[in-house]
Amino acid sequence: MPYKDKELHKMKCKEYKLLHKDELKRKRIFNRDKLTTYMREYYKTHKEEAEYYREKHKLEMSIYQKEHYKNHKTEKSKYNKEHYKECKDRINNTNKRYYNNHKQEAFERVLKRKRNIVIVEHVSRVKLQEMYDNKCVFCGQDLDNKFHTDHLLPVSRYAGIGQKCPHSYGNCAPTCPTCNLEKHDKTPLEFIWEKELVK
Ligand SMILES: [Zn+2]
Repeated sequence: MPYKDKELHKMKCKEYKLLHKDELKRKRIFNRDKLTTYMREYYKTHKEEAEYYREKHKLEMSIYQKEHYKNHKTEKSKYNKEHYKECKDRINNTNKRYYNNHKQEAFERVLKRKRNIVIVEHVSRVKLQEMYDNKCVFCGQDLDNKFHTDHLLPVSRYAGIGQKCPHSYGNCAPTCPTCNLEKHDKTPLEFIWEKELVK
């Protein structure tokens, strides 16, 4: 029976959780599959509500998470390490699956973290391949799906004049890994003259 006083209810819950920590953990692990299915189903049928809630409490949640992380850093990292050891394969598989389905987003997230790139638009690899007829923009070689996305005017050049390099269809082109690595921080013209790709 819930307490009428919200704060009291919260406190009692906390107490209970602390007292029955191990038991609760065992239960959670025992029912993991059931819980996951339940949560997934729940999310599917309550997607809008869940998103609305998340959107509405975004700021509070992020503050709470940051605070919580700060206060429980050592426990968390210990737990994460142990959890990873226990469920290595499952975690790796989930990560791999996620990465394969969200490759471009993952790539752009990394780019975003580098402060000297500005994401102008979402650049799709498939679209890039179509735009350049599935050929390396420098040597003309047919590309496989391991091709690189080159920033034609490189990041370092923009940084040199105190600007951010645009990540856009205008400044991105597909290249074979060899050309991309050889080009490095040269402009397209510098690179093709050096390679004597044009005469
Ligand atoms: Zn090439």
